[in-house]
Amino acid sequence: MNSYDVAVIGSGPGGYVAAIRCAQLGMKTAIIEKYSTLGGTCLNVGCIPSKALLDSSHHYEDAVKHFEAHGIEIPGEIKVNLEKMIARKQSVVDQTTGGIDFLMKKNNIDVYQGLGSFKDATHINIAKDEGEAEVIEAKQTIIATGSKPSNLPFINIDKERVITSTEALKLKEIPKHLIVIGGGVIGLELGQVYKRLGADVTVVEYMDRIIPTMDAGLSKELTKVLKKQKFKLNTTHKVKSVERVGDEVIVKADNKKGEEVIIKGDYCLVSVGRRPYTDGLNAEAAGVKINERGQVEVNDHLQTSASNIYAIGDVIKGAMLAHKAEEEGVFVAETLAGQKPHIDYNLIPGVVYTWPEVAAVGKTEDQLKADGVAYKVGQFPMRALGRSRASMDLDGFVKILADKSTDEVLGVHMIGARCADLIAEAVTAMEFRASAEDISRMSHAHPTFAEAIKEAALAATEDRALHI
Ligand code: FAD
Ligand code: NAD
Repeated sequence: MNSYDVAVIGSGPGGYVAAIRCAQLGMKTAIIEKYSTLGGTCLNVGCIPSKALLDSSHHYEDAVKHFEAHGIEIPGEIKVNLEKMIARKQSVVDQTTGGIDFLMKKNNIDVYQGLGSFKDATHINIAKDEGEAEVIEAKQTIIATGSKPSNLPFINIDKERVITSTEALKLKEIPKHLIVIGGGVIGLELGQVYKRLGADVTVVEYMDRIIPTMDAGLSKELTKVLKKQKFKLNTTHKVKSVERVGDEVIVKADNKKGEEVIIKGDYCLVSVGRRPYTDGLNAEAAGVKINERGQVEVNDHLQTSASNIYAIGDVIKGAMLAHKAEEEGVFVAETLAGQKPHIDYNLIPGVVYTWPEVAAVGKTEDQLKADGVAYKVGQFPMRALGRSRASMDLDGFVKILADKSTDEVLGVHMIGARCADLIAEAVTAMEFRASAEDISRMSHAHPTFAEAIKEAALAATEDRALHI
């Protein structure tokens, strides 16, 4: 029987990063993945393929709608070849997952393909797709089994017309009318892909606004922009049935007034969140407790109820984000090596990769109000930047929330071109506990979108933005 210092179950961004860090720290490491490719949800059916399709569809929309204004004329009709677009996406996925194979080899990590399930706290059975099951021994185990799409109890996801994000990443035709249940990250990102390719898109959201967990100002601005892009946004709608009749999908929901609304489309994307995944893990055999929300229960050291078993990523509490899972992977590896790592969960940024992009870190205005913190706001519109006018990306703003008495930056919320990348400046500033004045006194290259951060900081410090 092969024996390891550490076995990692699951090869998503949590698991594979944990394995690399364990190996770097000198531990003999194995990783177990039930699918034939490494990389988990993120690389196979999540972050990477969705961004590949967002990029392709963005190019198409630019060519159809925006090139002309730049003086670029394309004779003839511009067409989408969906099959080719999906194939390009898949080649991006294949290159990326192949990169993880390389990293495992480079770090001498043994890769086992198969479903890992605990026999006891130090032995894991690996049921392979091909060949006999194998048992390995591990002094310590890291559970990184991730998540799967959630559903509503009355919806039958047939994976053809009523679909999750996984099927939406490989459709064979562009929907005529895509109904999206859930106006969160997945619904809006994938909704925008198909909207750009020509579908009508209707979003049905239970809460009174889209992206309801983000700062209300961001929801409001994104709503405005998506409406300009002809999205239909039905907020405060409670879905009560989803029925497939032939190639049609009929969604019934109650609106704010309690009236029944019937929406008919040809595809329905169910994107109402994701659930932690522990099926087949046999956690009980190792003494690992699963809580009532289906999450592996962990303490502040990410240690489970079995002292030699840790858990990270989507399968535990907290934001379901790839970079959060990665931080936790490093955290556990370093803890196992006797180090004292730290994660500041308040500084894990959140991004929605629509266009304009939406990004945030730290506290929202609602959270500061609820916590009774006195704060000031500095906001600067993207349209006032020379860079925005040059590229015709005029929507959005940067908003900085700073402590009223100390000027420390408490939250940064932005929507606009390239905000997914711009948010890193805010994270860096907050990591070093910068004040709004600190940011306002840093030179920002001109002309860049990042100048909006400096201007918002000036507005927060002394209400003295320069360009508005
Ligand atoms: P996962 O990536 O889910 O990996 C878990 C792995 O464990 C899987 O490969 C699974 O097969 C394997 N596994 C499970 N049980 C077993 C077992 N018993 N034995 C062996 N293997 C097992 N996050 C971002 O930060 N940015 C984004 O842009 C982003 N976009 C997304 C887009 C979509 C469409 C989706 C669905 C998600 C997106 N996410 C994004 C979320 C991100 O994918 C997850 O937060 C991240 O993958 C979680 O990583 P993880 O390692 O915890 O789990
Ligand atoms: P989400 O939590 O972002 O959004 C789900 C939405 O569905 C919410 O707005 C919620 O109010 C709504 N909803 C819930 N029940 C409903 C109902 N009965 N009827 C109508 N609406 C309902 O979840 P998601 O978009 O499915 O994404 C799942 C996870 O994947 C998220 O946690 C997210 O962090 C992660 N993800 C991240 C990215 C990114 O970082 N860019 C992209 C995609 C997914």
